Amino acid sequence: MARIDLKNLAHSYFPDPRGDDDYALRRMEHVWEDGGAYALLGPSGCGKTTLLNIISGLLTPSHGQVLFDGKDVTGLAPEQRNIAQVFQFPVIYDTMTVFDNLAFPLRNRGIAETQVKSRVHEIAGMLDLTGKLKQKARGLGADEKQTISLGRGLVRDDVSAILFDEPLTVIDPHLKWVLRRKLKEIHNKLRPTMVYVTHDQIEALTFADKVVVMYGGKVVQLGTPQELFENPAHTFVGYFIGSPGMNFMPCNIDAGAAWVDGQRIALSDTQMTALGKATGKLELGIRPEFVRLEGETAVVGDDGIPVNIVKVEDLGQFKIATTRFGNAELKVKVGEDQQISGQNGILRFPQQWTKIYADSQLVA
Ligand code: ATP
Repeated sequence: MARIDLKNLAHSYFPDPRGDDDYALRRMEHVWEDGGAYALLGPSGCGKTTLLNIISGLLTPSHGQVLFDGKDVTGLAPEQRNIAQVFQFPVIYDTMTVFDNLAFPLRNRGIAETQVKSRVHEIAGMLDLTGKLKQKARGLGADEKQTISLGRGLVRDDVSAILFDEPLTVIDPHLKWVLRRKLKEIHNKLRPTMVYVTHDQIEALTFADKVVVMYGGKVVQLGTPQELFENPAHTFVGYFIGSPGMNFMPCNIDAGAAWVDGQRIALSDTQMTALGKATGKLELGIRPEFVRLEGETAVVGDDGIPVNIVKVEDLGQFKIATTRFGNAELKVKVGEDQQISGQNGILRFPQQWTKIYADSQLVA
């Protein structure tokens, strides 16, 4: 398996691009480690497929290079890159048995039949296909056919990388959970370099060691699921990851604190130093999981903000309370065991979870 280097990569579908807006991918410089599981996550049109197609060789970038283990593959066709690919829809041979479908990529490489047999049985076992190996693919359902496609993608152990383009789109929601977990298990066991395109955050967070969050043709953050959750580097990441996403409120900085609608929110010394002399638009962000909601009889003190509770949604394992002070509206995730009564409460913002976003960290 290979390390993937993206060097100064950019792509425009226009023959004569005039500005940044004409680029589907803007300057990218990344190293993706050998054996890593990377998810490309972002909304429709952010450039995920463009990037995947450049890595697979279906598309030649307007600028820059792709390197596999230091070797420049930018000019090579997909079949010369030694990669496996799994697409949204099954790519299998209906007239062949499940065994022969899984064996195909190995036999195509001239692998000895004893090795073919053992590898097919290993992968079939991991994907619960062992009982179906003798059946023709034709009679199987869409879920099973796509599972075979996944197996075909995983069966070779000598590829540089396995590329997945929204492979679970056609899969039934329950089986999606199962396959996501299996893919993770297979990755942990075999450690191939995997790149997985999805617009589904749950899929990205359960599958990947590292999530590459894309927005407007750029990577806005590359991090572990925990880093993206606890420390979003960009407002888009805060908004896109999490359910519900991060709360944002315009704020200004004065006397060592952030101010939202006349309310003081204390910041740590580190945050104040990081902000420096930031001017212009600033947004305060805090996740619904990290803001604390207390009853209206709690002591307001220096760090409490009196709020109205405008709505409480009970989602079984937790509740989402929508609170308001002035023009600011905040969602708070409250555990099922915490009672919310009355129409008022006190909010507190733990300092380590309160983020301030400025300039290039804001959604453009
Ligand atoms: P989706 O999740 O909808 O597939 P994506 O994140 O994969 O979206 P891309 O398909 O890479 O995004 O598209 C990035 C941008 O490039 C979009 O603005 C899209 O309209 C544009 N684009 C994609 N393919 C072409 C093409 N063949 N010709 C011209 N523009 C294209």
